[in-house]
Amino acid sequence: MVEKLNNQVEGKGFEELSELLRREGKSVTGAIFEEGLKSRGAKQRLATTQVCEGCGRTLTRQPKLQSRKVESLHGEIEIERPYFYCKPRRKGSSPLEEALEIAPQKKPYDLQRTAADYLRKFRLSERVRFLNA
Ligand SMILES: [Zn+2]
Repeated sequence: MVEKLNNQVEGKGFEELSELLRREGKSVTGAIFEEGLKSRGAKQRLATTQVCEGCGRTLTRQPKLQSRKVESLHGEIEIERPYFYCKPRRKGSSPLEEALEIAPQKKPYDLQRTAADYLRKFRLSERVRFLNA
């Protein structure tokens, strides 16, 4: 990785170099993040049955693990998780996602939080500008 970077660094200016490192850095932290997530939720990963929260039926895991791509601050990461589907309620669930605190929506919590933080800061700076006017 460092060697590969050394080759790419040559002849690059400030902006280009910064962008290169941002991109490469993201792929490293993304990989570490993915590994970190793999070590969590071991029990949920092995689960073969789950009681449906809605109707109390015992659901059996779908034979294959389902992979899901999740956007994060460290780029897109892939998660393989067991998936349970309640036919009468037409509702799927994944206890592993709950264990890892992955939001069911496309944007996971860390990005949602960033957006909220951004908005808060923006409003704050607007307020400061208003007070200084
Ligand atoms: Zn159910």
